[in-house]
Amino acid sequence: MEDSIARAREVGGVIEFRLDYLKPEHLTPGIVARWAELAQRPVVLTLRRRANGGEFEGSEEVQIQILKSLCADFIDIEIETIESFLGGSLSALKGVPCRWITSYHNFLETPEDLASVYRRLRKSGADVVKIATQALRFDDNFRLLAQAEVARQEGVPIVVAAMGELGSFLRIMGTGRGSLWTYGSLQKGLESAPGQFTATELATLYSADRIDESTQVYGVIGWPVGHSLSPQVHNPALQQLGLNARYLPFPIKDLGGFASDLRRFAGFSVTIPHKVQILDFVDVVDETVRQTGAANTLVNRSGKLFAYNTDVYGTEQALLKAFKDGVSKATLLGSGGAARAAAVVLRARECAVTVLARDAAKAERFAAEFGFASDVLSRAADYSGDLLVNATSVGMFPSVDESPVPADALDYRHVFDMVYNPLETRLLREARHRSSVIGGIEMFVAQAARQFELWTGQRAPVESMREIVLRQLGK
Ligand code: NAP
Repeated sequence: MEDSIARAREVGGVIEFRLDYLKPEHLTPGIVARWAELAQRPVVLTLRRRANGGEFEGSEEVQIQILKSLCADFIDIEIETIESFLGGSLSALKGVPCRWITSYHNFLETPEDLASVYRRLRKSGADVVKIATQALRFDDNFRLLAQAEVARQEGVPIVVAAMGELGSFLRIMGTGRGSLWTYGSLQKGLESAPGQFTATELATLYSADRIDESTQVYGVIGWPVGHSLSPQVHNPALQQLGLNARYLPFPIKDLGGFASDLRRFAGFSVTIPHKVQILDFVDVVDETVRQTGAANTLVNRSGKLFAYNTDVYGTEQALLKAFKDGVSKATLLGSGGAARAAAVVLRARECAVTVLARDAAKAERFAAEFGFASDVLSRAADYSGDLLVNATSVGMFPSVDESPVPADALDYRHVFDMVYNPLETRLLREARHRSSVIGGIEMFVAQAARQFELWTGQRAPVESMREIVLRQLGK
């Protein structure tokens, strides 16, 4: 506990002691008071019962006995305990020197009628009310925030939390939009509720304590999106330029269900699997989107959504040196979204291109659209030329031992692998001794920088973005 408190002190403005995870014999007033002193921060004591999602196995009577004997800035007690054991009111506990938090948890859903939950909590006579519910739809974040706004207007301190992946918006933005605090875990794997970020992520990556009403929100929409490097890249860039903006993960599975919320935000990156479907919901598309049929960037300009495909720019930048060297004959592996960006660039450079994909019909359709030749990927060893572009996901983490082309058949002056995790794929490793190789990081950083510039109108700090990607991917 002492070690944990010291670490929590470095990142948290308020520290919660989850007493239910400790042995009851440690919960003496003396020990808890010593920990509270060590915290040097306001402390919340929580002894959550099993029935309410905690670990404490004792009865409500014992729970109250323990809590009554302790002393802290805040003590959290479930509405269920208050209603079933204290007749719905905290008045019997008024002598305890603390502020009482009456909390409501729902691990299944965010109920439709949040107003009645709020009224129940208020009725208890709490100093602070807390509502933590499972987000099943993105909109649940906004419903909880609307409740926080009601509390603000009534002068009632409130904490709101949306649990689960879909609640990430509220976990990051909540403190800037009316929630007294947000919960972060001490480290990954020690979350006390589903979907929690670490306190370090909240404090440093998202600077949650400096978010206010006017903070602009950008983010990456995808499913899944937890692995995305983009928050790690864009937040420090926004910070470096002193912009009051944050970049959040938006783990959206059902894009249609989120469509009506898109215009609430300043801009987005769009990733797998929504790059094509997103076009159903935008107002204006630029040339890169028309040519590729997909978008990876949205910019909200006065309520109008503009769509771009910065993968085209990213590919062009990654291949600048190769083009300078002269590329007339190229082989393009893959027929998905990234391959389309490469096709647009290679066509503009008037290269003779053969598209290779595992599905012959798909390769043929794709090639016909761009005026290229096609073949099946299994015949990759038969091809050679100035440039090889891998736009398949072969070789990507965790399948790092795979390569789309046999090592002894690699016969190109330049080899560009769009895969950026790992930084050096097997394909690049095997091509390195006879070709000039280009890693996916070049494209990744360039397309991210272009997004940043489209959103902010300012030059992106490209070098620090690259350093972050290198650090994140372990070089
Ligand atoms: P996508 O639209 O899903 O396309 C994936 C392509 O890879 C398809 O052609 C698919 O073939 C092929 N493929 C997948 N598994 C394969 C396998 N085992 N054997 C042969 N072909 C296989 O994805 P995407 O957006 O184009 O992304 C493709 C790769 O590029 C990913 O690794 C992604 O991380 C990378 N990328 C990098 C950047 C960057 O900035 N560096 C940007 C975008 C994408 P089928 O059509 O037959 O399924």
